[in-house]
Amino acid sequence: MTRLIGKGVYGAIALGKISVFTRKEAAVKRTHIDDIAAEKERLEKAKEKATEQLQVIYDKALKEVGEANAQIFEIHMMMIEDEDYNESINSIIETQSVNAEYAVAITADNFAAMFASMEDAYMQARSADVKDISNRIISCLSEENSDSTVSDEKVIICADDLAPSETVQLDKDKVLAFVTAYGSSNSHTAILARNMNIPAIIGVGEELLKTLKSGDFAAVDGYTGEIFLDPDEETRARLEAKRAEDEEKKRLLQELKGKENITLDGRKINIYANIGSVDNIGAVLANDAGGIGLFRSEFLYLESEDYPTEEQQFAAYKRVLESMAGKKVIIRTLDIGADKQVGYFGLAKEENPALGYRAIRICLTRPEVFRTQLRALYRASAYGNLGIMFPMITSTGEVQQALNLCEQVKMELKAEGIEYSDKVEIGIMIETPAAAVISDRLAPMVDFFSVGTNDLTQYTLACDRQNADIEQFIDTHHEAILRLIEMAADNAHKNGKWIGICGELGADTSLTETFLRMGIDELSVSPAFVLKVREAVRKCDLSKQISQ
Ligand code: PEP
Ligand code: MG
Repeated sequence: MTRLIGKGVYGAIALGKISVFTRKEAAVKRTHIDDIAAEKERLEKAKEKATEQLQVIYDKALKEVGEANAQIFEIHMMMIEDEDYNESINSIIETQSVNAEYAVAITADNFAAMFASMEDAYMQARSADVKDISNRIISCLSEENSDSTVSDEKVIICADDLAPSETVQLDKDKVLAFVTAYGSSNSHTAILARNMNIPAIIGVGEELLKTLKSGDFAAVDGYTGEIFLDPDEETRARLEAKRAEDEEKKRLLQELKGKENITLDGRKINIYANIGSVDNIGAVLANDAGGIGLFRSEFLYLESEDYPTEEQQFAAYKRVLESMAGKKVIIRTLDIGADKQVGYFGLAKEENPALGYRAIRICLTRPEVFRTQLRALYRASAYGNLGIMFPMITSTGEVQQALNLCEQVKMELKAEGIEYSDKVEIGIMIETPAAAVISDRLAPMVDFFSVGTNDLTQYTLACDRQNADIEQFIDTHHEAILRLIEMAADNAHKNGKWIGICGELGADTSLTETFLRMGIDELSVSPAFVLKVREAVRKCDLSKQISQ
């Protein structure tokens, strides 16, 4: 038995034969050409053919893995038309009088190296995409196509790396698992694997392809990232048992994918997911969340050495919106201070940081920081279904100031001829008792409320959420908290607005029925809890009297 280890990107177990994925690399030779115009025309035809192929793949992916995941092939189609990319290819053909294959290959290398050297993980992942589209064009130029060696039997696919287009082209009924020598957990391939519910391990290293060959028997543990070649009896039995146990647990929840969040008596709600990073979108999609109810944008600031620029923020928000393909994405504006300290903000040390200079208070007193974020948000709004919400609200004045700044930013963008959506919903977090108590005044000013139960609990019960010594006094089900939520829900509805819960309490299934009875319209929870909450919603019957 040989044990190799990589990074598990989707937790599940598989045992079976290996199929090493091979592709015929189109051999690219540099040849001199005389007729530059004819060569350029040949290139255009190959690009057309590549686009047609991508359209077919896109349609297949749309059916099998949904719009959000299929979108990468739309992006590939757009990349084929990218101005800089085409300018580079055409200029190599013209200036060096060389064949199109060679010009595409050189351009692919240059662009891939450029993306790979970028700091942003998302841009790094684009390196694989540019190689993927370039190989497709080269293969269209030379009439060769890639090939996989999937047999009729279900197999564990082992590859150096898999491009997204290769991943979806595999017949997923025949794939037991993916194991790759390289690749990033941020790649679309990993996202697709997660969404297909197929155990996946990446980054095993070059040993993978040296050690394994097609037909070998192996066991894959997507939880631990281990792959066992020719497993001994004990390992095999252990993993078989883990798989059976695991499948039983997952089966019950997986059955709920694609199902509605509807109670037995027909009341529907939205179940969205909370994320802290663009990298979490895979989990949101894998767990079939209806949208993103809370994107904690401050993590962009926490991960940076300096204030993230408008461009950096725009790229991150746009990516989330595009990945969610028209589903609602609620991005919370900067919520730093208290436990989330960012060095470059130079915030003074405070006696009571939770009651201090944080969240909206920082944004309103440092309008240049807020303005940069709002510009990035509105610019990104053109790429999806955006909602913006403000944290730590305690007064109507704060909301008014924030709304004024939004209006100012929109006017600026308009004057600059920059596109933004006029359908952006604006909401506030109800996470201070003050906001809940004056929710009748706040509701007419905004489109929605989202209850931050983590802070609402801290402020209502006067219990510092950071202090482990007072754990016993933190009663998250305290009647005061539930009454405040109900008050906010009533006031939202009286004003024709919707209300969600995005604090941890939203995932507490012992309260799901209570929240539904209050009329809560949306629950936003960690991606891993989406199906568990859906299960709880589907068991509720609101037509029955509550037993006292
Ligand atoms: C909350 O307070 O409930 C909330 C969702 O925000 P955070 O946990 O980020 O403070
Ligand atoms: Mg909070």
